Amino acid sequence: MLARTESGCQDALWKRELAAAITRPEELLDELGLDRCLLPAARAAAKRFNLLVPRDFAALMEPGDPDDPLLRQVLPLAAELCDHPGFSNDPVGDGDALQTPGLLRKYRGRALLVVTGACAIHCRYCFRRHFAYDEGSAMHDRAEGALERLARDRSVSEVILSGGDPLTLDDAALAALVGKLTAIGHLRRLRLHTRLPIVLPSRVTDELCRLLATSRLKPIVVVQANHARELSPASRHALARLRAADVVLLCQSVLLKGVNDSADRLADLSEALFESGVLPYYLHLLDRVSGAAHFDLGMGVASRLVALLRSRLPGYLVPRLVREVAGRPCKDPVEQNAGDRSAAPETPLV
Ligand SMILES: *Cc1c(COP(=O)(O)O)cnc(C)c1O
Ligand code: SF4
Repeated sequence: MLARTESGCQDALWKRELAAAITRPEELLDELGLDRCLLPAARAAAKRFNLLVPRDFAALMEPGDPDDPLLRQVLPLAAELCDHPGFSNDPVGDGDALQTPGLLRKYRGRALLVVTGACAIHCRYCFRRHFAYDEGSAMHDRAEGALERLARDRSVSEVILSGGDPLTLDDAALAALVGKLTAIGHLRRLRLHTRLPIVLPSRVTDELCRLLATSRLKPIVVVQANHARELSPASRHALARLRAADVVLLCQSVLLKGVNDSADRLADLSEALFESGVLPYYLHLLDRVSGAAHFDLGMGVASRLVALLRSRLPGYLVPRLVREVAGRPCKDPVEQNAGDRSAAPETPLV
């Protein structure tokens, strides 16, 4: 009984922390002692994609520094309101890859389930910031349709839970979903794409670890972190618990101007990840989503940064530099000597 009470407490804790996350721009600015002159722009940009940041994550930011790399990921800016050619609302072709509501199918053997539109943090560069999650229709009905489709398609061996952030579902909802996936005989691996072990580490409950450890499906958790400072002691502890549950841990990052656009910062991130038992997987070029152009770096800069990284770190600590091009059979590797992005086609090569 004690264990049950304890797991109930853990569940209550992360939900409380999530409910208490900062949503008002003025609160974030005041918390960090930042000038209120940033407020009008923050309010205007937050109307398009609202501000959301867990308090413990905000506490990792440097007070008084408007350029703090963690702050830049969450603070709405006036730059988001400008339109740029080549930046659109659906830069990676999610609309076309939708097989049935909630199920994205782009690559052989893998299918991606959009299990929720909710996140614990709103990343300003998010490629799904305009995605029509259709939150009005019951997620439950959509999930049923997607599960039926998965069950019929024997070519899928790996299912990816994504969103939004799948770990905003609670343990009971996840257990129900994982139970249904486990019953689909041809599935072998269960992958979660989540930022919560980084931005809301209390979400990694004993119950979650137990669920992943006892599933027939081999569990993989791909976290997202963009800067070494995001790996707080609490986050490291959460990752260690997942590792203890035999979960394979990988990280994907997005290359972002003003956040991680130097070889030093990228190397620090890889080292910090490794210390937490996480291997860097992908370094994504920014998806060209409207409102995020101020984070963009050319492909030439990106490949030079990764070349520098390669000359400093063991190969397993160098993430694969990729970009997503709609219609391609995989995430596209960006070659070291790729030309500058200005020379690249504006429209996808299909
Ligand atoms: C990125 C993505 C995947 C996963 O690709 P991997 O190269 O296996 O990490 C799968 N499905 C969709 C729709 C994706 O966007
Ligand atoms: S956690 Fe992921 S899905 Fe959610 S806002 Fe950030 S990048 Fe987008």
